[in-house]
Amino acid sequence: MILNAAQRDRAAGALLGSAAGDALGAGYEFTYPADDVVIDMIGGGPFDWAPGEWTDDTSMAMGVAAGLSPGRVDLDAIAAAFADWYGTSPPDIGNQTRSVLSGRDRTAVPMAARAASIAGRTGGNGSLMRTAPVALAFLDDDIACADAAAAISDLTHSDDRAREACQMWSAAIAHGIRTGSRDGLRQWVTDAPAHTRTYWEPLLDMAQYGSPADFPNNGWVVHALQTAWWAICAADGDLPRGLELCVRAGNDTDTTAAIAGGLLGACAGASAVPDRWRDMLHGYPGRTASDLAALAARITGN
Ligand SMILES: [Mg+2]
Repeated sequence: MILNAAQRDRAAGALLGSAAGDALGAGYEFTYPADDVVIDMIGGGPFDWAPGEWTDDTSMAMGVAAGLSPGRVDLDAIAAAFADWYGTSPPDIGNQTRSVLSGRDRTAVPMAARAASIAGRTGGNGSLMRTAPVALAFLDDDIACADAAAAISDLTHSDDRAREACQMWSAAIAHGIRTGSRDGLRQWVTDAPAHTRTYWEPLLDMAQYGSPADFPNNGWVVHALQTAWWAICAADGDLPRGLELCVRAGNDTDTTAAIAGGLLGACAGASAVPDRWRDMLHGYPGRTASDLAALAARITGN
């Protein structure tokens, strides 16, 4: 799809917004910042990040991006990129992702089979946190976007809610890049099969009209999505404010802010990410903000 200048800015914004949320939240992970704490890109946190350094959320999004090109997804390339990242012994890998990637598979079919074999709780937020790049490859094909989002989620998270969350968020990001509006999220739910719609509609209402105390377990994909949607609505789409609200909600702060940042950036554009943050952003595999903008251009074919 040929993009105009505003759409190109919003495509870059999806990647930059997510990375900025990740790096902003990194210093506050597993905490609940008090009201008088200033939220800034300070680094530190439980894994001692450098200021502006992103975490596993964006590192894995880079793996997703490695398998995307205009209108196409290469699941084996994504699986190989995940395996390469795992080989660097990342400090902050999620439990479910670790269980799968420790199998050392380098292709999609055995990786997804290993994910499907894991018993117990499977609905961590680890596939939603890395979904921002998917929409960029499928801006004019909603069905292919949904199929790719599901297949990429399934590589590590064999879970209906994780899959649906990735499809919903990817559809909203695509709509945001096309139009600048966040209405695509509600539209996806409205258009979903009845059993999916009746599950998510009240949860989105709760997020839009409630508070983080209503969805405190944001390591779970459902509460993570609700926290992100709450922050986006409460900030009325303002990117820095929305990311700050995710961090103030506490707990898995880098991930809720990374999720929110993907959609905030898709609607508001890379130009909504403060220059000071853009200058600081960096992370695995040796990338910076300008690399993310170039990556967005490559994936959209613009
Ligand atoms: Mg993280």
